[in-house]
Amino acid sequence: MQLSIDLTGRDVLVTGTHAAARQAVRRYQAAGAVVHRLISPYDAGQPAQVPQGTFLVAAVEDGQPGWASLLDRCREAGIPVAAEPAAGPAGHVTLVGGGPGTSDLLTVAAVKALRDADVVFYDRLAPYQELPLLTSAELVDVGKKPGHHKVSQSDIEKLMVESALAGNNVVRLKGGDPYVFGRGGEEVAACVAAGVKVQVVSGVTSAISVPAAAGIPVTHREVSHMFTVVSGHAPLTEKEHRHLAGLGGTIVVLMGIGTLHQLAAGLRRAGMRPDMPMAVVERGYRPGQRTTIADLGTIASAAAGCSNPAVLVIGEVVRVAEANRGHAHAADLDMLAASLLGS
Ligand code: SAH
Repeated sequence: MQLSIDLTGRDVLVTGTHAAARQAVRRYQAAGAVVHRLISPYDAGQPAQVPQGTFLVAAVEDGQPGWASLLDRCREAGIPVAAEPAAGPAGHVTLVGGGPGTSDLLTVAAVKALRDADVVFYDRLAPYQELPLLTSAELVDVGKKPGHHKVSQSDIEKLMVESALAGNNVVRLKGGDPYVFGRGGEEVAACVAAGVKVQVVSGVTSAISVPAAAGIPVTHREVSHMFTVVSGHAPLTEKEHRHLAGLGGTIVVLMGIGTLHQLAAGLRRAGMRPDMPMAVVERGYRPGQRTTIADLGTIASAAAGCSNPAVLVIGEVVRVAEANRGHAHAADLDMLAASLLGS
């Protein structure tokens, strides 16, 4: 059970060693409490005293024997005791996939890693606005710097590694999944090269969740049984256009606004029908989320006003969303499937 209490100005005694209690101390301070500390259950060989006026005891499970009797005395005196997990071993990096931009789509492991962090280096595509509610860690924006220059990838890696070597639990919070166009592999390699322990927490990728935000399933029985996720960072080659068009499945493009024109033209040259449905989903799960639906032949002009971040979807599944919108009749989908099978 979870209880919320206003701790503003309240005297809270946090028990436990500095290493184990450092995050609990920050959390209670962030909640406005006046934090007092006991780092050992004994004081000069005698049982330690609980300060007068203690409103709550936050007992960090630091593994020291001897806390139990002190906590029993508190309870007998009517002071509530809250059990607090100890901070994890210091000095490692966790690469966390933050999902498409809403804290609702963070995983339980992501929430735990954020709670345990001393420092969070975050990108603008991660759900950064909600971070102060999820962690007491120092928050460092590496998506943009004053002057609006991005911190370079090698500087991000250096910052992460140096912070972990200084003894911090570092979370590198990234948009979507760290291993989908997220340079996660490079960041893991940088940690490994520096001898820093590193782990990866998978996230909900925008490649699937942003189409879903617009009602588009990336696969649908008898409509599409595969999807290919492509980076639109640079234009594709003619060979790639031909292979993609030849697959006949759903094509999902990230970072594709800048090359949308070339992609649509390339797929047309590779023989894809001009009436193949296409969607541009901008700012998924965020204020201003917008879906533009057109087809391969018309998308370049229809999406002229679209901007990043956006996910492009090319394929018949776009019609599933249209069929599901408003009147979700299975019959519509059956008709769609039948028309596709016949075509
Ligand atoms: N690792 C990320 C992708 C990083 S590349 C993931 O798995 O989602 C960045 C691209 O992701 C953006 O250019 C855009 O295409 C897409 N993207 C991420 N979040 C998005 C959002 N909320 N809405 C629309 N597109 C998004």
